[in-house]
Amino acid sequence: MTREISKSFYSFDEVKAHLKSGVPTLYHSSQTSTVIPFEKIQGLLNPSTVLGNLSTIKGHMELTPEKNISVSGFVTWKEAKEFCRAHGREIMTSPTEELAGVLSGIATSCTGERSFGFKNLRSQIVELTYLDHEGCEHKLSADKKLNLPFDLSSYQKDFSPYKNFKNAPYPRLEFETDLMTGTEGQLGVITSAVLKTIPYEEETYLFILLPRWEDNYEPHLEIYNAVQNFRDEIRAVEFIDSNSLSYLPSEKNPGKNQDAIFLEIRKKDFEKVYEELLSKLTHSDEETIFEMNPSKCRDLRMSVPRAIFEVNTRMGVTKKGTDVQVSSERFKDLMDFYRSYTKLGVAYNLFGHFGDAHLHFNFMPTPDKNDFCNEQLERLYHQVLSWHGSPFAEHGIGLLKKKFIAPFFSETEKQVFRQLKKQFDPKGQFFPEGFMSC
Ligand SMILES: Cc1cc2nc3c(=O)[nH]c(=O)nc-3n(C[C@H](O)[C@H](O)[C@H](O)COP(=O)(O)OP(=O)(O)OC[C@H]3O[C@@H](n4cnc5c(N)ncnc54)[C@H](O)[C@@H]3O)c2cc1C
Repeated sequence: MTREISKSFYSFDEVKAHLKSGVPTLYHSSQTSTVIPFEKIQGLLNPSTVLGNLSTIKGHMELTPEKNISVSGFVTWKEAKEFCRAHGREIMTSPTEELAGVLSGIATSCTGERSFGFKNLRSQIVELTYLDHEGCEHKLSADKKLNLPFDLSSYQKDFSPYKNFKNAPYPRLEFETDLMTGTEGQLGVITSAVLKTIPYEEETYLFILLPRWEDNYEPHLEIYNAVQNFRDEIRAVEFIDSNSLSYLPSEKNPGKNQDAIFLEIRKKDFEKVYEELLSKLTHSDEETIFEMNPSKCRDLRMSVPRAIFEVNTRMGVTKKGTDVQVSSERFKDLMDFYRSYTKLGVAYNLFGHFGDAHLHFNFMPTPDKNDFCNEQLERLYHQVLSWHGSPFAEHGIGLLKKKFIAPFFSETEKQVFRQLKKQFDPKGQFFPEGFMSC
């Protein structure tokens, strides 16, 4: 009999039965991870590891009496957003890839555009349930301290410089729900979660066209500094450079060989943001600022990373992109570092969560430049470590970033991972190739 290499589950009872068998499994949902190359995973997983598809488990959503959203099974961010809107509510996390799953979003500690105004997903989780290695379900609460039979004080000390980052190089492990948040499915299978919501209010987007950051980034940095005082009014501050925009059909490209920064704001805050922020910018003219409706803006925003993904697929290379967040003090250093990348003779683009000093630089290499780009990325991660920055602030570590994350783990982190695995995964069945094995 040949061994199964992938298995789809249609209920959590089937998952429970599978868990009892102890078969090593990489449980997955929509497979939109950019750090696990599902399309060519052969050879990257141990020969005995099975792919366990959870996206076939029927999803369910409801609003709790506190008006939080309760999600179980497979539900995408798009579905959760539409469900909340239909009930006059809004979900605060908005990853660019809306077809990714909500529960997997917890596993990857996914963030997104709206982290500028609403912080990270971690702070929006109220409670969750997960299946352990014997298939038993447990509930974890965000308001209860994580209580483990081993000491976490050194780990917490190491974590503290990263407290204000969207994601640190390793999971927070402070409250119960942290056990499943950003641990990438290495300690259990998440079955349901309750997330906070807010009342829906009409929003709009303000676009600012800028010179190319490679030529002059003063206007960009002025905006970065200015928006920091408007976190209550602005939900997202996103950047797309001219190279990224060039992948779009010309009718979708709002600029002419220009970069764009856009702000997501509530309609009712338009006057305030315009008068008190935009009209005071000294490096950007009023003619370069315009409003765009939410659906057009989302379409544009989503088209960019998808187009980049398609170009890489055509070239037969895996993504060579960064996911770095740094402190405000280091933001100019990061931009300077990225500028040095533009002189290497490899095509590139830059976009991301500008207001949070979190930008994705992507090399677009031909296959013969693959190793060269990896060396360049290693150079950056070395710098990020010395800056106390976060190397992978939203897409996680998966398989592709393991090599780069290893220097960020001291013996303290490795020891905690070993103890966690021993306690929660004694049979080694939860994504054994994940970062906890570094
Ligand atoms: C175009 C594009 C844009 C993106 N934009 C963003 C963005 O803005 N922000 C962001 O954070 N990410 C982004 N991503 C990355 C990706 O969408 C996220 O990492 C997302 O959370 C993955 O969800 P998924 O359902 O595809 O999970 P998968 O890729 O199927 O799995 C990802 C991880 O989650 C684990 N997992 C899945 N389900 C469970 C479960 N029920 N229990 C335990 N573990 C589980 C898996 O083991 C795996 O480690 C983007 C990706 C693309 C392609």
